[in-house]
Amino acid sequence: ETLDKSLEKSKTSFFSKLSKAVAGKSKVDDDVLDNLEEILVSSDVGVETTLKIITRIENRVAADKYLGVDELNQILREEIAGLLSETNTGEATEFVVPIQTKPYVLMVVGVNGVGKTTTIGKLAYQFKKAGYKVVLGAADTFRAAAIDQLQIWADRVDVPIVRQNMGSDPASVAFDTLQSAVAQNADVVIIDTAGRLHNKINLMNELTKVKRVMQKVVADAPHDVLLVLDGSTGQNAFEQAKQFTAATEVTALAVTKLDGTAKGGVVIGISDQFKIPVKYIGVGEGIEDLQVFNKYEFVDSFFK
Ligand code: GDP
Repeated sequence: ETLDKSLEKSKTSFFSKLSKAVAGKSKVDDDVLDNLEEILVSSDVGVETTLKIITRIENRVAADKYLGVDELNQILREEIAGLLSETNTGEATEFVVPIQTKPYVLMVVGVNGVGKTTTIGKLAYQFKKAGYKVVLGAADTFRAAAIDQLQIWADRVDVPIVRQNMGSDPASVAFDTLQSAVAQNADVVIIDTAGRLHNKINLMNELTKVKRVMQKVVADAPHDVLLVLDGSTGQNAFEQAKQFTAATEVTALAVTKLDGTAKGGVVIGISDQFKIPVKYIGVGEGIEDLQVFNKYEFVDSFFK
C-alpha cells in the first residue's frame, strides 16, 4: 500500500474539513481562523501546536493585510513542514546500523496495546531483509501475553528470541539477550521493555536499570530508544510521550495505526512538542506495514 492510500482517511478528513471551512470565502478572516483552529485540534495536532500555527498565520495576515484562502493551503503546508523539519529530515532515514557498532542495540518502550510488539516484529523483519542478524529480547516481563506475542513474531520473522518466565527481572532478560547477541555475533538487538505506566519513578527506575545492566555487556547500549505511540489515541499519545520522555531519553518515535484513523495530526503535534524525530509509521497489521517516515510525503498526504 502506498503512503497516500494508507493515510487516505487522514487526508480526506483534514482536507475536506479545510475545504468546507473556506468555502465561499475569498480571504482568511477570523471565521476561517476559528474553523482552522477547530480542525487542527480535532485532527489531534494538539492545542499548543495548533495555537502556534494559528498565531503564525495571524501574523502573516496582519503583515500582508490580505491573505487569500487559496494561499492558505500553501502556507499551512509550509508551517507544518516547518514544525516537522526541526526534528525530521526530509529523506527517508532508517536506523542505520553503524559498522563499528555491533551489536546495535535498540530499546523499545511504550504502553500495552499501542502496537509495540507488532512494531518490533516489523522492524526485525526489515533488519533481517536488509541482511542483518537480529536477536529479540523479551524484557516486557509483566504479562505472559507480551512474551508470547513477541515469540509469535520471532517465529514469523524467523529470528532468535531470548526470554525468561513472566515476572522475571527485565534487566536480567536484557542482559541475557545482549550476551547471547554478542556470542552469536549478531548485528542488531531489539529489546522489548516496560509495557506499563505504573508510576513515573518506577518506570524511570526500571528503564534506568535495564540500561545500566545492558551497558555491562555493550558499553554504549542502547544506541536508540524507540517510543511506540498509537496514532489513533490523540491526547493519550501526548500523555505517554510526556511520561516516557520524563523517564528516559527517547531518541525516536514510531506512530502506529495511522491506517485506521482520521487523526494523523498527532504526528505533527508530538513532533513539534517533543522535538524527537518520528522514524516510523505503522499503517497496518501486516509484516510489511511499517514505513520509514518522510515528512514531505506526510505533509503532501494531508493536502493533496
Ligand atoms: P502491544 O501491546 O503494544 O505490544 O500491541 P500489539 O503489537 O500486540 O498490537 C495491538 C494491536 O494493534 C494488534 O491487534 C495489532 O495487530 C494492532 N496494530 C499494531 N500496529 C498497527 C498498525 O500500524 N495498524 C493497525 N491497523 N493495527 C496495528
